[in-house]
Amino acid sequence: MKLKLSFVALLAAVLGTAPVNAAKIRVVTTLTDLADFARNVGGDQVEVRSLATGIEDTHGVPMKPSFVPLLNRADLVVLAGFDCEHAFLPALLDASRNPRIQLGQPGYVDCSKGIDPVEAPTSTDHSEGDVHPYGNPHYMLDPVMAKTAVSNICDAFVTAAPQYAADFKKNRDAYLAKLAAKIMEWKAEMAPYKGAKFVSYHEHWPYFAARFGLDYVGTIELKPGIDPTPRHIEELIGEMKAQHVPIVVREPQFPEKVPALIAKQTGATLIKLPIMPGGVPDTDTYIKEMDYIVNTMANALKK
Ligand SMILES: [Zn+2]
Repeated sequence: MKLKLSFVALLAAVLGTAPVNAAKIRVVTTLTDLADFARNVGGDQVEVRSLATGIEDTHGVPMKPSFVPLLNRADLVVLAGFDCEHAFLPALLDASRNPRIQLGQPGYVDCSKGIDPVEAPTSTDHSEGDVHPYGNPHYMLDPVMAKTAVSNICDAFVTAAPQYAADFKKNRDAYLAKLAAKIMEWKAEMAPYKGAKFVSYHEHWPYFAARFGLDYVGTIELKPGIDPTPRHIEELIGEMKAQHVPIVVREPQFPEKVPALIAKQTGATLIKLPIMPGGVPDTDTYIKEMDYIVNTMANALKK
């Protein structure tokens, strides 16, 4: 037996790929939170890669040449939806020449299925630079809504490999239970700060604010994806002073200069919060990322 295993290992080394990998479901996610969910649900049956590393803008992950062969071989592509990935995914899917993962195919896994978005669309036109044409796509920052994404990923895995359905469902339930326990913790930690006001650079936080009872006063961007004007910044500063807003959130993909200036002018605390795992150090999983967000926000509000 031992000899046989060694032979298999030797063969794998010669061929350059481990034979066990051959049967794995190849999953490509756009974002790192989705990759973490896919790994938790898929366990040993999946091989997961994320296009984003965590520090990018969810609306503009820079395209790398390596993405095309990666998507060409993928069995499933997993995305946030509501056109969040509009700036890079459709072109990559085209270039991938992979019929399994095109829109409408079972390999195209839109995690927004079952999510009711806020800021419902008035226009689905991208021409003015609006990056939220189908409503706000940042529902993953509400850990209760994130459960829907986990379940959608599980359903897609069951369709792709029904022989492992029981494993996927068991993994999903174990992860959702872990998440439910963390949600209780996060709610308890945020409970003293009901009604606390904050602003952010991009409109990432309406679902997070609603879940934890915070008051999301406004954004530094004029509209999602549209840079601030001096007049808008002036108005925001006035509004923050009038309402005594104590927190300015900067997401890692935006420069610090303008948020720092606004914080200084208003006496607010500037905090940097990731919008997906990997956005700041030591947040490589979704749970660690949410831990970081909740702890940082609570610590800033304690002051
Ligand atoms: Zn956005």
